[in-house]
Amino acid sequence: MAIHKSYEILDNGIKRLNQSCPKCGPAVFLGTHRDRLACGKCGYTEFKK
Ligand SMILES: [Zn+2]
Repeated sequence: MAIHKSYEILDNGIKRLNQSCPKCGPAVFLGTHRDRLACGKCGYTEFKK
């Protein structure tokens, strides 16, 4: 069921867990950290709420 984990939250209007980088495009996913998401390519960081 882990495969569906990235999508099940979409129904609640919340962002996907495997979020792509807004700067690098949909092909680059943000790395998931405990309290933030970070792009290893451009350095973009988004803190979790
Ligand atoms: Zn990026």
